[in-house]
Amino acid sequence: MTELEPVIGLEVHAELLTRSKMFCGCAVVDSTAAEPNSSVCEICTGMPGTLPVINQRAVEYAVRVALALNCSVAETSLFARKNYFYPDLPKGFQISQFELPLASDGWLDIEAEDGDQRVRIHRVHLEEDTGKLFHREGYSLVDYNRSGVPLLEIVSEPDLYSIEQTKRYALALRSLLRYLGVNSGDMQKGVIRFEANVSLRPQGSLELGTRTEIKNLNSFRALARAVAYEIARQRAVLSAGGRVQQATVGWDENREITLSQRSKEEAHDYRYFPEPDLPPLHIERAWIEQIRSELPELPAAKRARFMAEYGLSAYTASVLTEEPAVADYFASA
Ligand code: ADP
Ligand code: ZN
Ligand code: MG
Repeated sequence: MTELEPVIGLEVHAELLTRSKMFCGCAVVDSTAAEPNSSVCEICTGMPGTLPVINQRAVEYAVRVALALNCSVAETSLFARKNYFYPDLPKGFQISQFELPLASDGWLDIEAEDGDQRVRIHRVHLEEDTGKLFHREGYSLVDYNRSGVPLLEIVSEPDLYSIEQTKRYALALRSLLRYLGVNSGDMQKGVIRFEANVSLRPQGSLELGTRTEIKNLNSFRALARAVAYEIARQRAVLSAGGRVQQATVGWDENREITLSQRSKEEAHDYRYFPEPDLPPLHIERAWIEQIRSELPELPAAKRARFMAEYGLSAYTASVLTEEPAVADYFASA
């Protein structure tokens, strides 16, 4: 039988380190430390009759990321309602972007096992985070401090072909977000979360196989383990002559298995429609160019410079440049 090759595309959710939330004036607080429901208002708890207002700083941060990912930034993008019911979503919909995202068609170069590898970025869009549920014995609690925190979704093309590449891409993204000052990279606090789409295909084939989407990946370890599990599971199905069912699966952290949650949801299940309470988002060219001109030296450039200036090996340079604080410390020593 021909070898099966894994194909992986990642959706990365990153909270943006703004002072206030995406559509209201509530402070963004550390959701692992603050008193529950201490930073909430009528808007981020979805009271009837309230109106959202777009956070300009969140847009600026999103543009920063989009430019660093070599994306085209849309001068006009649209917010949309993604409708679904869940107790951590008090409005009954999430404000997101659907048809016209803030940015698209970029790339991120990562260091792969054998030289640099380009991972194409499909789109980058702005949305809002949900609240958080805490399940207790016989009841659940909800904390809305996180509800309405600006969230950036970064969607790659299916350009990753191994667990190692997937990890490197995720690490490179986290490093980039830290360099840009838009995210702390503190995985323990849940400020970056992954969803991995995994499929297999015969080695050499150009067509994509049927994929499953793994939700609920909150660490690099979970990402790597879940993708490995899913590759092995699909390989077993296909090797036995079966077919992979397109589905959304959840990663069970304790049992280290994926559990089927539902057959894959489609866009129409969410009844997306343009958010009637927000105008189209217009971003002036001049502002985009200003943000571009203020971008810091990015990890790949710094790595190359450290190798050239200090004669470091690729490995040492990449270790020293992963975190901006470490790179600055090294350069100043
Ligand atoms: P959805 O919104 O339904 O999750 P998208 O088409 O936006 O769908 O794809 C989401 C992610 O899935 C992207 O990162 C994309 O690269 C990846 N993807 C799509 N098809 C496949 C596939 N056959 N195998 C692996 N990844 C895939
Ligand atoms: Zn609020
Ligand atoms: Mg998806």
